[in-house]
Amino acid sequence: MSPEIILNKEEIDEVITEVANKLNNFYKDSDRIPVLIGVLKGALPFMMDLIKKLTFDLEMDFIQVTSYSGTSSTGVIHLKKDITTNIKDRDVIIVEDIVDTGLTLNYLKQYIQLNYSPRDIKICCFVDKKPLRKVQLEPDIVGVTMTQAKFLVGYGFDYNEIGRNIDYVFVPTKKQLEEWDRKLKNN
Ligand code: 5GP
Repeated sequence: MSPEIILNKEEIDEVITEVANKLNNFYKDSDRIPVLIGVLKGALPFMMDLIKKLTFDLEMDFIQVTSYSGTSSTGVIHLKKDITTNIKDRDVIIVEDIVDTGLTLNYLKQYIQLNYSPRDIKICCFVDKKPLRKVQLEPDIVGVTMTQAKFLVGYGFDYNEIGRNIDYVFVPTKKQLEEWDRKLKNN
């Protein structure tokens, strides 16, 4: 069985252009310099491709949290790396690969609000995966909405840290996951 391709390279590029257009429209007449905060590691390819299409002045920073193990979310969120930019009273755009249960972004939004008091926080995500939502969280800017709870790999999405470099998004087969498990055991 071959893997189900969810988004190929061209489709990813179209999605990013749409997301960038929305952000560009929003900030085009603004005097403010938003701070994009990318959520490591999954959002890295999305963030890097997105910023190249943004036409307003911006700053960027990164934050890192973990909640996933294998193919499912543990629900327990750990902050691994914090931002270093002073974002007090600034406009912040959190850039995330995917919203699934919503727990990670819910945590991050509260963490950033409570600790750094920005003026505004917007959430921009590449994929909004709706079916397993545990908290009410609506991202402000969404690339693709998924109505099925499929486990994705590629373009930042990983299986135990593997697969982030693949330049399309797909649902791995059982055989592929077993092959990665075998390799992981030997590394
Ligand atoms: P949430 O806290 O919303 O359940 O999940 C957010 C995090 O879970 C994402 O940043 C991502 O790391 C991970 N995640 C959620 N769905 C998927 C998926 O389909 N594939 C992969 N590889 N990671 C996912």
